Amino acid sequence: MVLPQKKSSVLLMFTIFLLFLISCGGTYNIYITKSISNDAMIINKLGTIRGSLQRLTKLELSGEKSDELINKIDLTISEFETDKIKLFDEKDEVINSIKTVDNSWEKVKTAINNFRKTSSEEDRLQLIKDSEDAWYKTNSMVYVSQISSEYKVSKYKVSFIVFLFNILLSIVIIFLIKKYVKDSLEEVVNKDSLTGIFNRRYFSEFLHNEIIRSERYKRTFSLIMLDIDFFKSINDNYGHDVGDIILQELAGIVNKSIRKSDLFARVGGEEFAVVAVETSLDSAILLAEKIRLNVEQNVFSRDLKITISLGISQYSDKDDTNTIFKRADNALYKAKGNGRNRSEVEQ
Ligand code: GH3
Ligand code: MG
Ligand code: MG
Repeated sequence: MVLPQKKSSVLLMFTIFLLFLISCGGTYNIYITKSISNDAMIINKLGTIRGSLQRLTKLELSGEKSDELINKIDLTISEFETDKIKLFDEKDEVINSIKTVDNSWEKVKTAINNFRKTSSEEDRLQLIKDSEDAWYKTNSMVYVSQISSEYKVSKYKVSFIVFLFNILLSIVIIFLIKKYVKDSLEEVVNKDSLTGIFNRRYFSEFLHNEIIRSERYKRTFSLIMLDIDFFKSINDNYGHDVGDIILQELAGIVNKSIRKSDLFARVGGEEFAVVAVETSLDSAILLAEKIRLNVEQNVFSRDLKITISLGISQYSDKDDTNTIFKRADNALYKAKGNGRNRSEVEQ
């Protein structure tokens, strides 16, 4: 039985990936919004040029000079050159064709100057012609800009879907973080930090539940306690750090010897317990011997060889956690007393 430590890391990676997707969606939304507001600004400015041209021509033809309007159109055209507008539509038809409008506008200004000087019929017609030409060019630019803008607005649908998707992802992220925190807490509360196997707290809880389950469904299970022989001398001779490594290596060997459904826990300094579910006493004795031999045959760090003693008890009616634990512990001490590196049973 393994707690989902790996699962927690996978969840964390997935959460980071989702956060990345959300930030991409957000950036896309900001881009589309800015681009559309940019288009609106272009259309607005073109509208100003178009309207001013009409008024200017009318005033000039009736003999009223309107330099104010000329300056206004000059200024508006020059604003198209600013970075603010160019930023999003550099390659746009809108920005490229502003030059055409600019050229026609220069012609209108020449025609105005000529007409102001001569007031001749010829110059009057030329002014009307050039002014109309500039108006049409500006008007067609408005049209092109509107089409471009409408196209971008249609992209807003995509943007909206991205927005909804982001909300959904956020909910998923909250759920995942909650799960991650829960898994991490379980890890801290239930596991032994040195060996990574379950701790005494979780062992007691598991044993209690196993007793309830066995009572109710008339099933059985066995408990195996194991303790390293002469472990103190390893600490004394090789140091506590080597002792720690031996404990980790031992945990690995026992983990490999038992079933996934069995519970393996560190219940003391160098004392461990295996709850072998659905296992009778005979099978538990075989399992204990298998574990004992696997440990005896293993070469540990620093070429060390160690042995373990084991005590076995089987669940019987009216057992509680203390009684079954006590019997396995007694059996363990019997094994120690009978020479160590062996397993004993107490029924
Ligand atoms: P026995 O065969 O009778 O079990 O002999 P023993 O030396 O193993 O027994 P004892 O209970 O006297 O010693 C257990 C030792 O385990 C004492 C303690 O220093 C050591 N120990 C307990 N927890 C740890 C640990 O986390 N790391 C290390 N390195 N040693 C530990
Ligand atoms: Mg010992
Ligand atoms: Mg001990």
